[in-house]
Amino acid sequence: MAVTIHQEKELLEKVPTGLFIGGEWRASSSGATFDVEDPATGRTLLTLADATPEDGVAALDAAVAAQADWARTAPRERGEILRRAFDLVTARADEFALLMTLEMGKPLAEARGEVGYGAEFLRWFSEEAVRASGRYSVAPDGKARLLVNKKPVGPCLLITPWNFPLAMATRKIAPAIAAGCTMVLKPANLTPLTSSLFATVLQEAGLPAGVLNIVNTTTAGEVTGPLIEDSRLRKLSFTGSTPVGRNLLAAASRNVLRTSMELGGNAPFLVFEDADVDAAVDGAMLAKLRNMGEACTAANRFLVHESVADRFAAALAERMGATTPARGTEERSTLGPLIDEKSRTKVHELVTAAVDDGAVAVVGGAPVDGDGYFYRATVLKDVPRSSRILQEEIFGPVAPIVTFGTEDEAVELANDTEYGLVAYVFTRDLNRGLRIGERLDVGMLGLNAGVVSNAAAPFGGVKQSGLGREGGAEGIEEYLYTQYVGISDPFAS
Ligand code: NAP
Repeated sequence: MAVTIHQEKELLEKVPTGLFIGGEWRASSSGATFDVEDPATGRTLLTLADATPEDGVAALDAAVAAQADWARTAPRERGEILRRAFDLVTARADEFALLMTLEMGKPLAEARGEVGYGAEFLRWFSEEAVRASGRYSVAPDGKARLLVNKKPVGPCLLITPWNFPLAMATRKIAPAIAAGCTMVLKPANLTPLTSSLFATVLQEAGLPAGVLNIVNTTTAGEVTGPLIEDSRLRKLSFTGSTPVGRNLLAAASRNVLRTSMELGGNAPFLVFEDADVDAAVDGAMLAKLRNMGEACTAANRFLVHESVADRFAAALAERMGATTPARGTEERSTLGPLIDEKSRTKVHELVTAAVDDGAVAVVGGAPVDGDGYFYRATVLKDVPRSSRILQEEIFGPVAPIVTFGTEDEAVELANDTEYGLVAYVFTRDLNRGLRIGERLDVGMLGLNAGVVSNAAAPFGGVKQSGLGREGGAEGIEEYLYTQYVGISDPFAS
């Protein structure tokens, strides 16, 4: 059923517009505000408090004040708060989905998918909260006992991007809660509404005041800079672009902070001559069009064996060409808008440059006229290997196809990037799939699969795609440090 204006209005009225500090919603200390817009229409959805550097420090003060008590809560208690939050988000899935569609643009069906994925981190880490264990052992010379314990790292600064407003937040907040850390969250200013609604759920689930604090701001560097320099902060977890990540790492080094960096990607999608081409096209639709291509895991380069390239390109073009760009709240929508005009202009520049280099647009290749920042689903073939579109993150619904002849050539092309987040490999030969996986410099591999994200798996990259892992058994470790206690020989008198 189509969403009504009344439903949208009713939902937006539930979203707090202030800063969330010490368990209370408050205005910016300067009184400043900023507008959050719907990328499908360009219209303002809500006006939010715009934090100042002083507000940022107040949020850290609240996190620091709450840290000692929070670290002492029973792991089960922390787990149960997360589990209640999972139940609440799940019960309100339609609301969270609609809010993400409104502020970020993705079609409602996809937004529902993100609610499931994002909520799963709450359930997963509710279970992990009680499993952060250490060990006790006898020293090799028998003269001492070694007690190894896991402790929360302390107050964290979490910075999230706009493309997955719920999941990028829960992927950090849930393990921090499970580990016993307090935090300041700085959501992307393009999509801050989901985090604010989520904070009300955590309050309802029983999260004590000060454990989570949220500062929305249009001056990210000015507000987070002093926190990163503050000796009371112990960890920085960032998801976003590689250039910003590099600068944050440099700043974090001055305070010797623990860091987790989930940065950009340039995923290769390899289709071998023995692949099930129909399955590869299904996988490509997911790997390319999920989130309109605005995902760090989006397939950015389609490397296809020359013997199946024409068939693959034609089938993919048919599927991509059949998508319907429309506001995500409309039932017919299968392709939402890009996040803003700047992003759309960049996507079109990359496409135009590739065509100038000699690539052929099999389908698409242009923005959609009218309101919002829509761009047509596009397939480019015969893309020259030197084309800029193969070097940069496209972050749009554009699939450039390059052909290869041998396995060695495919591996060389795939690894020819500064990024190393994820790769996709389609082949019917399991040995080949595993062999290629071992040769690719990536943190994750989709083998005959177009999606790898899973709360139970370690998500993250190598090279310029970042440091650390989120989710899986590894996820909570990012928020724990190891303390060792040396104990004298209990048998010595
Ligand atoms: P971005 O421009 O790097 O921004 C990410 C976050 O950092 C936002 O909250 C942003 O705030 C903040 N920020 C920007 N400049 C900052 C500064 N100087 N100091 C502190 N914070 C700062 O990235 P984006 O455009 O939002 O997101 C897209 C990027 O994220 C892509 O490169 C994508 O690949 C990457 N990403 C990676 C993963 C992963 O898991 N590896 C997942 C999703 C996205 P404002 O919004 O206020 O500018």
